Amino acid sequence: MTRIADRLNAVRARIERACTLAGRDAGTVALLAVSKTFDADAVREAAAAGQRAFGENYVQEALAKQAMLRDLRLEWHFIGPIQSNKTRDIAAHFDWAHGIDRLKIAQRLSDQRPYDLPPLDVCVQVNVSGEASKSGCTPDAAPALCRAVAALPRLRLRGLMAIPAPITPGTDARAPFRLLRVLFESLKAEGLALDTISAGMSEDLEAAIMEGSTMVRIGTAIFGSRTRASDDVDSRA
Ligand SMILES: *Cc1c(COP(=O)(O)O)cnc(C)c1O
Repeated sequence: MTRIADRLNAVRARIERACTLAGRDAGTVALLAVSKTFDADAVREAAAAGQRAFGENYVQEALAKQAMLRDLRLEWHFIGPIQSNKTRDIAAHFDWAHGIDRLKIAQRLSDQRPYDLPPLDVCVQVNVSGEASKSGCTPDAAPALCRAVAALPRLRLRGLMAIPAPITPGTDARAPFRLLRVLFESLKAEGLALDTISAGMSEDLEAAIMEGSTMVRIGTAIFGSRTRASDDVDSRA
């Protein structure tokens, strides 16, 4: 087996263990492999090991990779912050977008979604750690934004997404995920047909699964660490 296949198996085992601890069926947590900064060959390797859904943060980088992987049936998720000038490409080339935090962006994606494709699956991103620098709408603003997004014809609101602040010793790692889950449940209770909590990364997938995550987004634990250089390049995208 390749190194990526080994790591994928290790991540799958972590998800299964966490599900067992949480009293959940492992089939209730989807694995999104975050391939940003890694090349098409790395994606191909993961696909050969059975991985189908891939997450990307940078539009140009993702389109180049997709072009090299046309022979595979993959599902592409845009998980980065969404700028207005990128919505057309995201609407045309992705199956999901997780970072919806403004109605204007959602409206553009809906208007620009090509008619030969099904509605774009989306998640509203919520800032559950309360830091000014992070993207995502405030928990208070989420219900109104979700209702408005759910009404757009060419989008299908699937649920909520969050990127909590990194775990620090002495704090409750599950608290931000719990907040997300409470919000998710209250939106469902008011009638929105949601099925996705997109939360949990390489460092905190267990805490996320304990609090109900249905989709973990894992980069480092599958593909290895990203180099500083690529992060710098990519922050321009
Ligand atoms: C990079 C990224 C991930 C993956 O993070 P890892 O810590 O490498 O697992 C998940 N979600 C988003 C939004 C990201 O930008």
